[in-house]
Parts: sequence; C-alpha cells; structure tokens
Amino acid sequence: MDSENNPTIPMEKWFPMWKNEFNSCWLDSTMVLLSHNRTLWYRIRKDPDSSLMANIICKYKIAIRFLNSSSSSHQDAKMIKIQHLLVSVRKKVSDYLKTKLSCIEDKPSSPFCALLNIISKDKEFEDIINVKFDKVLRCAKCHFTKIEEMEETILTFPKITYFNPCGSVTLIECPACKNPYLELRFLYKTLPRVLIYHFEQGAGGGLLRCTDMKMSTRAYILTGIIECVKDGNSVHYTTTVRFIDTDLWLNFDGLRTKPETFHEGVPHLNVEHAHILVYEAVDPSYTVTCESYHEQNFTEFNPMPVSTLDISAE
Ligand SMILES: [Zn+2]
Repeated sequence: MDSENNPTIPMEKWFPMWKNEFNSCWLDSTMVLLSHNRTLWYRIRKDPDSSLMANIICKYKIAIRFLNSSSSSHQDAKMIKIQHLLVSVRKKVSDYLKTKLSCIEDKPSSPFCALLNIISKDKEFEDIINVKFDKVLRCAKCHFTKIEEMEETILTFPKITYFNPCGSVTLIECPACKNPYLELRFLYKTLPRVLIYHFEQGAGGGLLRCTDMKMSTRAYILTGIIECVKDGNSVHYTTTVRFIDTDLWLNFDGLRTKPETFHEGVPHLNVEHAHILVYEAVDPSYTVTCESYHEQNFTEFNPMPVSTLDISAE
C-alpha cells in the first residue's frame, strides 16, 4: 500500500470544513460522510478523475494534507486555497446531481438522495456496499404478511418506534386489519463491507443502542452519522464521523467554518434526528453471504482495541 492511500492520519491533524453556501448542508454533509469513510479510502483509486467518488475523496485528502503541511503560506491564504479546492469539488458533484435530482443550487435536497446517486454512479462500489435481503412486513394481529426480495445500496426505514438493524416496529397501518403498527424485518442474504441505513422520519426515540454490532458472523462499527434537525420550516444537516483507527469522533457543521480535530467520547445522538447511519465491517472481506437466514438478530459488540482491527488488508 503506498502512502497516498495510507489512511492512517495522526489524530492531532486538522480537518477542513465544507463551508455552507446557498443552503448546501444537505450536500456538504453527504461529502463529509463519503470523504471520511475508511473503506472507501482504501478502495478509491489515486486518480481523482477516475470517478465522482474518487474526486471527492482524493481532493479532500489533498485539502487535509495542505492544511496540515508546514508550508510557509499564511494561514488565511491556505484556507482560501482549501475553500477554493473544496468548492470546485462541490460544483462537480452538484452539476452531476442536477442531472439526477432536478435540484437547483438554492433549493435543498436530502443527503439520502445525494448519497444514493453518488454511490450508484460508480458500479465498482456495488460489491462493498450493496446488500441483498428480504423485506418482510408483518402484522402481529391478523398475520398479514408481505415479502419483497430486494437488493439495495441503502436500507430505508419508514417511520419507526425504535431502530434495530434486523427489524423494527413501523408506524405503517396494516392494510388488512388497520392495526397502526406493522413489524418490519430485514432478513439479510448478504452482508456488505459498508452498511448504510436511511430513516425517513428519524430512528424512533431514545439513545442509539447499536454503535457497534454483530450480525450473523460479521462485526460492524458505526462510523458515520448524518443528523437532520428541523426548526420550523428550516432543515439543517450535520455529519459526525468516527475515526475507526483511534475511536475518536468529529462533528462537521457547515455553519462552523474553522478546521476541527477529532476528539474522544461517543457523541450524544438523539436518534429522533438520525437521517443516515453508516456502519463499516471490521474484517477485510468484501460482501459475505449471510448465515442463519431465519434466526437473524443483532448483538451489541465491544470492539477490540482498535489497533488490532484488521481493516487494512484487502
Ligand atoms: Zn393486520
């Protein structure tokens, strides 16, 4: 592995923010999520022009290197150059999304739509992100059951009472008996290296239980969170990422423009605000076939000391 793709960055380093312009938090939060995903860091080719995702990650790496370099440039001049670079990346991504989302610069879209379109553009990520599963909707009262065979990039939960990656109680009305709650189960046929969940209306209430989880034979660590906070008619998205090598966390908010650094402590996450959760497997395999199709559940999992996690081999 060459140094260009070596993801180990000393923790004392600083990370530039994408400055929020024209209500761009939906897009900036998405790019932060992608540009801090270690699995993608390893996977991405060095050439920033090889794909849109490579452009985001490679240019962001350049910005980090420049910000932390001992270059003689004055700090303000450095930041201007970095913002210029990041704005050019955002323009490229935004130009692509305009063709997909009919989004215009002053009209916000959602990180979910942005993420789905950016990932789906590059087929080379299918084997680390796509997941095959059966989506089972079942009524506990009248036993109405609907099973759909699915393959998705992102698993979407409708309005739910609490989050469980294997299944949740939804606030969908049973079409047969009008019971206001239906059970939703995801029966996984495959478990990818990166698992992404989307919540249409938050992940229920209470604290997030599964920051680290084991499903079937695979252990996952929560490494990315996009939160959606609504205030009247305005919606604001922020991203929290976890540095998997050191278990440190960092919150990016486009309303803060100064570079920030990772720190200790699991951030307080109000699951009501959860929009996207990203988990990365701690083992180096690509997508694995899921064992125990009928008996699936997740267990909470205490990660080993992070230095022993084998995330680098591939
Ligand atoms: Zn029913």
